[in-house]
Amino acid sequence: MPKPNWKNRTLWTGDNLDILRGMNSECVDLIYLDPPFNSKANYAAPIGSKAAGAAFKDTWTLNDVDIAWLDLIQSKHPQLNKIIEASSRKSDKSYLIYMSVRLLEMHRILKSTGSLYLHCDPTMSHGLKMILDTIFKINNYRTQISWRRATSSQKGSQHSPKRWGNNTDIIFFYAKSDKTKLDPFKPLTEEETIEKFNKIDENGRRYYDDSAHIWRTPKMGSRPNLCYEWRGFINPHPSGWRLSKERLEEEYQKGNVVILPDGRLQRRKYETDYPGVTYGNFWDDINPVQGREAENYPTQKPLKLLERIIRASSNPGDIVLDPFCGCATTCVAADAINRHWSGIDITPKALEFVRSRINDLTRTIIGRTDIPIRTDLGKIPPATSAANRKKLYGEQGGYCKGCSGHFQPPQLTIDHIIPKSKGGSDHIQNLQLLCLHCNSVKGSRTMEYLLAKLQGKRIQYDLTPSHRIRVSYEGEF
Ligand SMILES: [Zn+2]
Repeated sequence: MPKPNWKNRTLWTGDNLDILRGMNSECVDLIYLDPPFNSKANYAAPIGSKAAGAAFKDTWTLNDVDIAWLDLIQSKHPQLNKIIEASSRKSDKSYLIYMSVRLLEMHRILKSTGSLYLHCDPTMSHGLKMILDTIFKINNYRTQISWRRATSSQKGSQHSPKRWGNNTDIIFFYAKSDKTKLDPFKPLTEEETIEKFNKIDENGRRYYDDSAHIWRTPKMGSRPNLCYEWRGFINPHPSGWRLSKERLEEEYQKGNVVILPDGRLQRRKYETDYPGVTYGNFWDDINPVQGREAENYPTQKPLKLLERIIRASSNPGDIVLDPFCGCATTCVAADAINRHWSGIDITPKALEFVRSRINDLTRTIIGRTDIPIRTDLGKIPPATSAANRKKLYGEQGGYCKGCSGHFQPPQLTIDHIIPKSKGGSDHIQNLQLLCLHCNSVKGSRTMEYLLAKLQGKRIQYDLTPSHRIRVSYEGEF
């Protein structure tokens, strides 16, 4: 069983893509994410509020870095590429590329029994659903939850009478596999318990009398296979018993079917066997954040919402991760019900939030800004081994991943996609071939840097008289 290469109660500040990439595979039980929605809004917390300083942009334009990602998606995940290509607006395309590369990593780090909840609104839910269906496979889609986030139909009726008020958010629930478990039941309150389980047995256990469900009613029709004599009891009508003879005897042995002193049969439903009522997929019983809970953080979600999700899809001691943790509500909720947690956010404000919202008496909350180094890759050959070169040359078809020029093997150099200085490993998944020029431009920086540098510069490829390719660059980088 793979082990996480980070500690409980770790909060990272940084781009979640880099950090997710550094995490070991299959060691997270539950991921909840509330990513930007592509709402064309700029969220900023009011000055003077506890959240001041936390801001994020939710506007998207398609840039060259996105296109470079799309190339990578195209070569490794052609189906995803088709979905992204199908979006008509450039901003949607940019948003879906951004989400796809991250969701691929989230899928990888989930255990086979793991669950993912993605919180969004109708702006991009259709696109995200298709991306998720592709990454998780359609049969692992479980539920679309609608959470009523406002009791009034804000942003609707009087301001923009062209549409119905949008007062629900959407939460998609995906399983990693059919081994993923869920406990969707709502426990009864003490009052409801007393009302429903209104009888107490000889041992002081609560139950209700379910004797109406011993026999099938004549209306239900005849069932000769359910007509039998049991301990001297028989249904004179051919509709028979509700249970098979074996099941009935089993229930009797368990004390759920009782022969009363007056000779009557009684069926009992005990409180201890009752799972509760399922919540269903429309959640209108959790109010938006208000009062003392409010951190004045834009898009803050209520603790109760997270608690419900975490309780239903994890057990105490399980690992919960929120890669867009914002004001750290997931971490706070997970901590309160004894789950292990970690969070990632682009702003350092998240660490302040989690430290102030969790009473960290033992001072065990860890703030990190580095990229974790995977420890689950086994023994790996040196990055520059001949085997790596050969494999990568085959995969890339001889093209440089930077400038896309075509080269003979000796002219291509091994490059770490995530630089070693930033935690990148020597594993082949983190390696690529770049031409000498691209490699020297990139140095120990990211691909984004290289691609941005290459942007707009015309690159020419000529065949030299000796049939070797000569590359010339126009202009200075
Ligand atoms: Zn190149």
